[in-house]
Amino acid sequence: MRLYLDYIPKWYQLLMSKYHWSLKTSKQDKVVYLTFDDGPIPGVTPWVLQQLEDYQAQATFFAIGDNARKNPAILEAILQKGHQLGNHTYNHLKGWEHSNEDYLANALLCENHFKSTLFRPPYGRIKKKQARLLNQAHYQIIMWDVLSGDWDANRSAEDCFRSIRKHAKPGSIIVFHDSIKSWPRLKTLLPQTLEYLQNAGYRFEAIKLQNTPIAE
Ligand SMILES: [Zn+2]
Repeated sequence: MRLYLDYIPKWYQLLMSKYHWSLKTSKQDKVVYLTFDDGPIPGVTPWVLQQLEDYQAQATFFAIGDNARKNPAILEAILQKGHQLGNHTYNHLKGWEHSNEDYLANALLCENHFKSTLFRPPYGRIKKKQARLLNQAHYQIIMWDVLSGDWDANRSAEDCFRSIRKHAKPGSIIVFHDSIKSWPRLKTLLPQTLEYLQNAGYRFEAIKLQNTPIAE
């Protein structure tokens, strides 16, 4: 049994409306935002970049600072191909388990390696105060409305693909992981998803948002 939803219900998105769950677009404007968390990882991330290039797709990579430090050439390749980088903390911290000061400091360490206006909390776990502090430090909080579940070893690539096919819609933010853990599923899931959504008339854009304050 899965212990998480493969989509985020609309009521929950509205409740947590200070965060971005999907991006506003019209029903006719078939755009989706593919996102990749936890890289950059040798082997996996360069392969993802090649897949995206094959479909002229742009995406957003929520990098772990420590992985960015270890893999500067891959980080550079992400930028050179026109994709966006987002901050995913330096050590993949779970917000609820850390003080606000420690959490913010860890996230800001990423800035030694790359700059971004986008932040995604690892595990989707973040305290309101932490989100506000990050926002004051120029970040928009980017969540997702479609979860591929690609990290979950109990799922097949086909299960993951079914989740995407069922829930993706114009403006959706879809989560994948360019990680070793996800690789057994990602290697078939990503090309399948790109092919399916492109045939369905979608284009793939990177998330580009200016910093706007989170209301108190
Ligand atoms: Zn993560």
